[in-house]
Parts: sequence; C-alpha cells; structure tokens
Amino acid sequence: MIKNPLNIIDKFGRVHDYLRISLTERCNLRCFYCMPEEGVKLRDKANFMTSEEVLGIAKTFVRLGVKKIRLTGGEPLIKKDAKHLLLELGKLPVELAITTNAVLVDQFIETFKEAGINSVNVSLDSLEEKSFNAISRRNYFDRIKANIDLLIKNDFHVKINVVVIRNLNEHEIPDFISWTKNENIHVRFIEFMPFDGNQWNWDKKVSYKEIMQIAKDRFGEKCIFKIEDAKNDTARNYRLIDGEGTFGVISSVTNPFCDTCNRIRLTADGKIKNCLFSQDETDLLTAYRKEKDIETLIYAAIRDKKKERGGARAFDDGFVENMKNRSMTTIGG
Ligand code: SAM
Ligand code: SF4
Repeated sequence: MIKNPLNIIDKFGRVHDYLRISLTERCNLRCFYCMPEEGVKLRDKANFMTSEEVLGIAKTFVRLGVKKIRLTGGEPLIKKDAKHLLLELGKLPVELAITTNAVLVDQFIETFKEAGINSVNVSLDSLEEKSFNAISRRNYFDRIKANIDLLIKNDFHVKINVVVIRNLNEHEIPDFISWTKNENIHVRFIEFMPFDGNQWNWDKKVSYKEIMQIAKDRFGEKCIFKIEDAKNDTARNYRLIDGEGTFGVISSVTNPFCDTCNRIRLTADGKIKNCLFSQDETDLLTAYRKEKDIETLIYAAIRDKKKERGGARAFDDGFVENMKNRSMTTIGG
C-alpha cells in the first residue's frame, strides 16, 4: 500500500483509515447489553454535533486518508436530518456504510441507494419474537424482520450482528447459521463485551471457540469451510458447504483483533475515542467550533493509541471492576 504522507498512523505503524461516526446517543430500542432501561441521560442539544459539523469534521478525516466511514449510534436513523446527512456524506470519496437496528429502514431505502451505501449491518439477537423483544425491551421484531427482507430484496449486502449471551440466545446459533443456507446474508456472532452497567460478567460470554463448537456439532466439521478474511476484518469467516451466505465470529473478548486495527471512533458529542476500551477522549467538537486546527488533535489522539484493548492486558475481573467507560450506545458501536 502506498502511504499518503498525511495518513493517520499510530506508534505501532497501524494506518487508521476507517472512521466510525456516532450520529446520536439515543435509540428507539433498549437492548440491555447496550443501553440502560431508562435510556441515556439526556443532555442539551448543544453538546452534540449538528449534521453540518459531522460533515465538516468528516471532510477533515477524508483529507487525512480515511477511506471508509460507518455511521452508527445509538440508532443513526433517528437523527433528525439523517437523510440529508447521508446524502451529503455520500458525496465524499469514501465507502459509506451504516449499522442500524432496522426499525426505520423502510423509510431510507432510496436514500441509501442515492448515498451509494451498498452494505447495511443490522443488529438482531434472536429469531424468536418474544426473546428479541425481551432483549431489546421494545416490540419491533416483525418490523425489523420485514425491513431485513426489504434490504435483501433491494440487493443490499446485509450483515446481521448477533451478540451471543450465555443462557439467552446461544441455542439459536444453529438457526442463525441455517439462515445463511438459502439467503446471501452474512451473520456475525459477537462476543458479549463489558461496558458501563451492562450486566457483563465473564460467565455470560460465549467464546469464539464455543460458538464454533456449537456450529460443528450441528452441521459437522466437514460441512463448514473457512473463507478468506478481508484485511482489517474483525470477524473470522466461514461458509456452510451448501450455503448461499456466510457467517463469522467477532472475538473481541477472547481474541481481539488489535494488531490490524484501523478504526477511529467519533462520538456523537464530537470526541475521538482511539479504541472502544480506551478511557481517554479527545474533544474535537469544541476545537472545531473555535475554528482551531483539528488535524493536530486527530494525529495526537491516534498516536497515543495503546497496543491492545485500550491498554488493558486482558478482560479479567479487575479490568471490568476498574473500567470507567461509556455505555456502548454513547460510544457508537
Ligand atoms: N443501533 C444500531 C444497532 O443496534 O445496530 C447501531 C449501534 S449499536 C451500539 C452497534 C453494535 O454494537 C450492534 O451490533 C450491537 O449489537 C453492538 N453492541 C452493543 N453493545 C454490545 C456489547 N456489550 N457487546 C457486544 N456488542 C455490543
Ligand atoms: Fe439501540 Fe443498537 Fe444499542 Fe440496541 S444495540 S440499544 S438498537 S444502539
């Protein structure tokens, strides 16, 4: 790869060319592993980036070599002028992608197309209505399933994110994999990660190893093929012998993918988090509003990135007890 002299590079030589922007901390669901039941503490609107500010800051990142932007949240599609913002970001020379719970997707199909979004990540932790609605503490299962079908019908590449939690949905792993037999979707099982107040403990996570064992027990080792992982991919990916689609596991807890990390996170209140688990933040929005040089802040924030897990050696019990981190919905997953 030819390095752009402006590239954002950390001390370990990792080029950071993938920006994840959280458009809002708020959400129309309340997934218990992500968000407190009462929602996030509401703060004055002035604390958050306007769409024009998101666009202005994104343009700076693109100048510094960012090639891919993913919009996330909270739920990105509830931002008031999400359509306008998507269309404007779609004009930048980047791959634009989005992670959504799909509740509002039917209202955005044409906007996605116009903005050049080809791939949509949708979170769905259960294929059973009662269980999904219990996890998300809302009743949108049917609507979400219909919207996933709509995305597939409209030729979007759909990735389904499933957070696997012990005694909750691990028994559904085979059903999710079976879904990839006839549908060209990519299911990604995600190890349950610890964040502020999300009821995490070591026993609730189902590891990469266990997920693969469940898959092998159900489908047979010979019927599961390893496929090549894309560079910087966070999942290890597989296909069933007769599968239209694929599945993978994101093992952020038992085997994080820090070595090839190229991600920068920008929170809805305009702070850089150089790692999901870093406890430091860099306030870009205040500097941007004062018309200060944000490029220097960006370089410094990434230069200080730790080698792995925001500096923690492992997710042992001490790490979780001492962790001072935002909830996932206020980071931007
Ligand atoms: N609302 C959108 C959605 O749900 O897809 C975008 C934001 S959500 C925070 C992004 C991703 O983070 C989702 O796939 C969600 O499952 C994942 N996530 C949230 N909390 C998590 C946790 N504790 N462990 C693992 N993944 C988590
Ligand atoms: Fe909302 Fe997504 Fe968090 Fe669920 S995972 S509460 S949909 S932000």
